[in-house]
Amino acid sequence: MQILVIGTGYVGLVVGACLAETGNDVVCADIDAQKIADLQNNILPIYEPGLEELVRRNQEQGRLRFSTDSATAAATAEVVFLAVGTPPGEDGSADLRHVLAAAETVGKNLRRETVVITKSTVPVGTAKKVSDCLARHARVPFHVCSNPEFLKEGAAVEDFMRPDRVVLGVETDFARSVLAELYAPFVRTGKPILFMDIASAELTKYAANAMLATRISFMNELALLCERVGADVDNVRRGVGSDARIGSSFLFPGPGYGGSCFPKDVKALLATAGDNDVPLRVVAAVHQANERQKHVMYDRLVAALDGDVKGTRVAVWGLAFKPQTDDMRESPALTLIEALLAAGADVVAHDPVAMTHAQKVLGDRITYAATSYDAVEGADALAVVTDWNEYRHPDFERVRGALARPIVVDGRNLYQPRKMEALGFEYHSIGRPLGG
Ligand code: NAD
Repeated sequence: MQILVIGTGYVGLVVGACLAETGNDVVCADIDAQKIADLQNNILPIYEPGLEELVRRNQEQGRLRFSTDSATAAATAEVVFLAVGTPPGEDGSADLRHVLAAAETVGKNLRRETVVITKSTVPVGTAKKVSDCLARHARVPFHVCSNPEFLKEGAAVEDFMRPDRVVLGVETDFARSVLAELYAPFVRTGKPILFMDIASAELTKYAANAMLATRISFMNELALLCERVGADVDNVRRGVGSDARIGSSFLFPGPGYGGSCFPKDVKALLATAGDNDVPLRVVAAVHQANERQKHVMYDRLVAALDGDVKGTRVAVWGLAFKPQTDDMRESPALTLIEALLAAGADVVAHDPVAMTHAQKVLGDRITYAATSYDAVEGADALAVVTDWNEYRHPDFERVRGALARPIVVDGRNLYQPRKMEALGFEYHSIGRPLGG
């Protein structure tokens, strides 16, 4: 099939590369000329396991091309994916500017019957807006569909190749048969393609992210209660997670959820709820709890550093919002670092892959350490923000020896409190009693 993917970010690039891998002829288009030039040379703008190899192979074999010219590719495409960003607007609602700009380009250039898919996360009613936009320009039939993407950054290729399910909001037989054929290679093991109406497909994506965010905020609040009542959130987590009705994933407490999706999608869902006079009280509380949680690590550092971080040096392990990605968007590390800098602390940070991206956001306001051990050298405290595997079993003696004061604030519960105390650390984690 001839496919055009507009937007080559975390989603568009993965979608394009994976569809090329199954034999389709794919053009990935972006308005960012530098990004396209780099991609043509197999230089990826993001870190995503397995993606570089996929891009290189499919580009070499001629199935995957990169272009700034979505107009030309739209003329020959049978299927167009809109995979551009939908950042939060000032009121929290999804900003559809990029989606509608891309739709306009497509509409002006369609030359054959085409299926146009919103892959971006968009609020209910967006397909109608895209459809209206296409109708203003197109002289050939088109079919607008919603196909929300559920990939996880850090495992995006794997998730797209072997999805738990594919959600397709389609309202014509033509679109249904084209998309069933396109997705058939990805659901060979019997995973379902869930066909549904477009509004339900659009809402499903927000519902899924809000549900996952709910589990995280729920456990974060419970962790704070555990601390007050002398319980251990790890035990509580294992106790509730082993109930088959609940399941064990997304129950780890931490420094608050971040990333490009949960915070934005929770706010956008609340905006949709507000527009429709249907209060989503649970979702509103999820957001509030997360805003609070993002300050827990800072508060703990201040308390451990005798009430004032001014003039101290704090080492931060982990900048990305989660491991296996370099995505810094809404990372809890940013909240922590901004608070530390505002209070007059020096920050020296390490991350295995996110430091280049971090530099774009934080510039030279912090120091970037080449290794995790360099970061702790002479620091008054260590804050562990991202649960990268390489932070799980450090040489504790070396860390202890390098720190000026042996304070560790662990936002991911990576270490055992009793062991840390025995090693001579003053150790703080989330929801676990000291000595536990
Ligand atoms: P991103 O910001 O990484 O990439 C978006 C790309 O679109 C950028 O490269 C930008 O230059 C390009 N773009 C913007 N306007 C354009 C236009 N008119 N024509 C061509 N290109 C244009 O975004 P992302 O993380 O890939 O997310 C894209 C969408 O997918 C969002 O709606 C997001 O909510 C959703 N989503 C993201 C994830 C994720 O894990 N990142 C997962 C599921 C869904």
